[in-house]
Amino acid sequence: DYIEQSPVKRRDELGELSEGIMYMSREIEQSFARQKQFIGNISHEFKTPLTSIMAYTDLLDMYQDDPALLEEARLNIRKEADRLLEMVEKVLYLSAMEQYEFSQNAETLDVSETLSDVCSRMSGKAVQFGLRIDTELQPALVLADRESLMHIFLNLLDNAIKYNVEGGQINVSCKAEGNQCVVVIRDTGIGIPQEARAKLFEPFFTVSKDRARLTGGTGLGLSLVKRLVELQGGQVALSSPPIGGQGTVFTVTLPIAPSASA
Ligand code: ADP
Repeated sequence: DYIEQSPVKRRDELGELSEGIMYMSREIEQSFARQKQFIGNISHEFKTPLTSIMAYTDLLDMYQDDPALLEEARLNIRKEADRLLEMVEKVLYLSAMEQYEFSQNAETLDVSETLSDVCSRMSGKAVQFGLRIDTELQPALVLADRESLMHIFLNLLDNAIKYNVEGGQINVSCKAEGNQCVVVIRDTGIGIPQEARAKLFEPFFTVSKDRARLTGGTGLGLSLVKRLVELQGGQVALSSPPIGGQGTVFTVTLPIAPSASA
């Protein structure tokens, strides 16, 4: 009799409730584990630029009579400090996200307008790198937080510029497909190796330390993008470039605003 009534075997409401509670406790456990790992990563990642800054500071004394070396040390300290500041800002942003009430700040927005705004903001940087941004924007209304949308697209475009090649191109498109708004950001850059794809959206993941150093990357941008897209009820994915093509394609899908799809 006891075995039949055992919480794991029960098919009735109590059984469902106990399964629900077990599911929730597993989720909480996993979330704790993720947070622990995140804090471990932060400490590790912050140590690298700090160690570098300390080493260069020690060298300043030795370099006192050599203005060229002194200037080089100063520039390196500045570069590492900038990286550190960027990391702190992104970590603070990520943690602020967790408390943010999205539903209260959501408004009906035309994604094509936000994208057009973002593209013109980034056009200066693109020109600086010798890149062209082409757009194909059709109206698509979504219910989302304006600042988050800006942040998502700014980050993806910044990467499309940072990891591109001289004379390269960036294509940004958006359209409504059924009850989804589909945004595609395509670049002709250095691409993402197959083996890096699975981990790409994890915090602090960079494809290789070298390419990140060159551009001052933190490996936090895409994890922030993923979190922000999910908080708007959408999804972000890395698609393969067309066969024979090079570069990277990111696709963001967001639900069309309820009144607009009716
Ligand atoms: P980062 O601040 O290092 O750019 P991200 O989280 O934005 O961090 O990106 C993680 C890694 O993914 C980067 O280090 C980069 O190597 C790779 N990556 C991201 N976007 C692109 C892209 N458009 N083309 C090529 N590589 C990219």
